Amino acid sequence: MAIATQEQQVVDDVPKQLYIAGEWRDAAGGETIDVEDPATGEVLCQVADATPEDAQAALGAAHEKQAEWAATAPNERSEILHSAFEALNDQAGELALLMTLEMGKTLAESKGEIAYASEFFRWYAGEALRVEGQYKVAGNGAGRVLTMRQPVGPCVMITPWNFPMAMGTRKIGPAIAAGCTMVVKPAQLTPLSMLALAKVLEEAGLPGGVLNVITASSSGSTMGPLIEDPRTRKLSFTGSTEVGQSLIEQSAKRVLKVSMELGGNAPFLVFEDADLDAAVDGAMIAKMRNIGEACTSANRFHVAAPVAEEFASRLAERMGAMKVGRGTEDGSEVGPLIDDDQRGKVAELVEDAVDRGAKAIVGGKGVDGPGYFYEPTVLADVTSDARLLKEEIFGPVAPVIAFDSEDDAIHAANDTEFGLVAYVYTKDLKRAFRVCEALDSGMIGLNQGLVSNAGAPFGGVKQSGVGREGGNEGIDEYLEVKYVAVNMD
Ligand code: NAP
Repeated sequence: MAIATQEQQVVDDVPKQLYIAGEWRDAAGGETIDVEDPATGEVLCQVADATPEDAQAALGAAHEKQAEWAATAPNERSEILHSAFEALNDQAGELALLMTLEMGKTLAESKGEIAYASEFFRWYAGEALRVEGQYKVAGNGAGRVLTMRQPVGPCVMITPWNFPMAMGTRKIGPAIAAGCTMVVKPAQLTPLSMLALAKVLEEAGLPGGVLNVITASSSGSTMGPLIEDPRTRKLSFTGSTEVGQSLIEQSAKRVLKVSMELGGNAPFLVFEDADLDAAVDGAMIAKMRNIGEACTSANRFHVAAPVAEEFASRLAERMGAMKVGRGTEDGSEVGPLIDDDQRGKVAELVEDAVDRGAKAIVGGKGVDGPGYFYEPTVLADVTSDARLLKEEIFGPVAPVIAFDSEDDAIHAANDTEFGLVAYVYTKDLKRAFRVCEALDSGMIGLNQGLVSNAGAPFGGVKQSGVGREGGNEGIDEYLEVKYVAVNMD
């Protein structure tokens, strides 16, 4: 099936080369990577497949530019970010179509991601002007303590396919604001949004060499040497816990400053006193945003026993009514999963839960035909040994489990090696604070199903990561604190 003219146009408009030192160039080996539309399985286009030498050239460009970039006026860095913020919004229609084509989510969701992605540029356009130090009298009254915050230096950034632009701007925004240069590698499944973003930043006036983008099919051999290179001063990674763990090990050799935004296993707690309509609305967002392929996706719904059946049946009604289809189609609400492997993993987790006694009250299988679609699924009577309570599902599947007491709910919620986000629905204020304090989680959605916000510190505890992105805290990841002891004798 040939893609429509407008679709072809947005694909044609994106640069397909590597972006190094302000130039678009082919990979040294001349190789390319196919980019597929997950809704059809068809190839959309090819992008350059970087060699390790290309990656070295990108790091060389970042390193060469670092001192000059760090010395630019904060106003200049702020204005570039602000121009890019406006350009992303001006081009939201085309960028959203491009994102839907390579990633699968609906056009409305892609537009939502472009808006979210652009907010990091608006936020850090402001933060660029607020990098502060301190001056204080030392405790003994004699000396003075002076602190300054300076850019950490060239950064290596690696991003996943599920939010192909926002996971980039969440790193690139604060790095630009802080005065760092960088090499960015997007996921090979979704390189186009990042290439389009590089073009937006280039047109917004970002000098060549500050941002370098390489696309590569062999991530380990391309990025590994950069992580071990003495010119790199910082690694920021968003992706799976498994890959994050191995990158932390590699970073340890040079005691690299790292930020890790890793996997999740979010519990969604609904107490007996909750507003059930609001809880179902929140569940729809927490579960179905991004087709369930979000690190913040509600992975398991722990619901107070007296309302568990009612909650499951209302959620099943809403999820079962969703229109599954290509993200570009009018009215489509659930796009395809990213590839056949991901769909296979979701199917395997559902089969495992059903084999152990769970009941699919809606959905429960893949959709026949082209593309990697999976039915929105609600599972009731899930047993505590089901794999999907421990593993990230990353698909449109909602397991519902009943609990008997607040302590049981907290214990079940914390019974995981992850700790990214949790959702809590209750109308009891004291319970709300008690439960928020007791949850081992970097973020909590209290009576709401969405926590992502450029002005808030996003990040996890336990195996969900190290560091925070967004908010006042996000720029700290790209700054070092230097202390000067001032002699006043
Ligand atoms: P992934 O397999 O870990 O890949 C993430 C990125 O790392 C991709 O660019 C990938 O490149 C690259 N990569 C893989 N192996 C590498 C290696 N040995 N050296 C250097 N780079 C390597 O994760 P994913 O499947 O793309 O994304 C899904 C995961 O991301 C989920 O676990 C999700 O929870 C997590 N996530 C977390 C957050 C958060 O903020 N906490 C946000 C979004 C997603 P290739 O494309 O070549 O494989």
